[in-house]
Amino acid sequence: MSNPPAPKKMPVLFVGHGSPMNAIESNTFTRVLEKLGPALPRPQAICVVSAHWVTRGSQVLAAEWPRTIHDFYGFPKPLYEVQYPAPGAPELAKRLAFEHHLAPDQKWGLDHGAWSVLRHMYPEADVPVFQVSLDQTRTFAEHLALGRELQKMRERGILILGSGNLVHNLHKMNWELPHAAYPWATEFDQIVKHAIEQRDTEKLAAPEQWGPNLLAEAHPTLEHYAPILYCVSATDAGEQVSYPYEGIEFGSVSMRTVLFQPAGAPLF
Ligand code: ZN
Repeated sequence: MSNPPAPKKMPVLFVGHGSPMNAIESNTFTRVLEKLGPALPRPQAICVVSAHWVTRGSQVLAAEWPRTIHDFYGFPKPLYEVQYPAPGAPELAKRLAFEHHLAPDQKWGLDHGAWSVLRHMYPEADVPVFQVSLDQTRTFAEHLALGRELQKMRERGILILGSGNLVHNLHKMNWELPHAAYPWATEFDQIVKHAIEQRDTEKLAAPEQWGPNLLAEAHPTLEHYAPILYCVSATDAGEQVSYPYEGIEFGSVSMRTVLFQPAGAPLF
């Protein structure tokens, strides 16, 4: 299958990555990713903002050949044997770091927020990949501000890929509810969805105001929420929003995937 021709502006994608096991399983979610890769314009490079790279200060991965990081515990051996040998994009990464006063990094690699998704979308590992970290000292408004700065990468043929989950509470996961949601999980997911569609960045920057305890239940820690802020702020109000995959699993994990495309692009 050949990709559609390069547009003036690349789409932006947010993926709810869920369990690391999705990296080696075949299910309705991974099959959507398999179709999505070839359906999007082929990127020059992919810039991943992953929930699993949290730092002090914003960093940009500038490694020539990023290692595959197995940043999880207690999973079956085959998951630890997965390698995703995509090249890095050191020149693009260094340019981005220079332009936006971010720190280039050589030590990180591709974490599972990146490769568990990319190995389904680009199984040949032939598109260069780099990552931008989540600076834990930033406020949500400051994450949004950096996302706005990253927007110009889209005109350079770079696909911005946010990888997190719009609701992510592992403590409340209920194995008896594989395809059901707690009411608070549905509520949080719907508020985010609505705010995305309205491009309501002020609302997205203040999830603690959405209801008593709602943020604490949906995100006991905040790293799986932050990547959507980069995706929303890297897009304009006139762009199309679609959901190639959605659903809440095990009560407390939203798998909603959000695709932002310039107006007129074929919807996935
Ligand atoms: Zn995760």
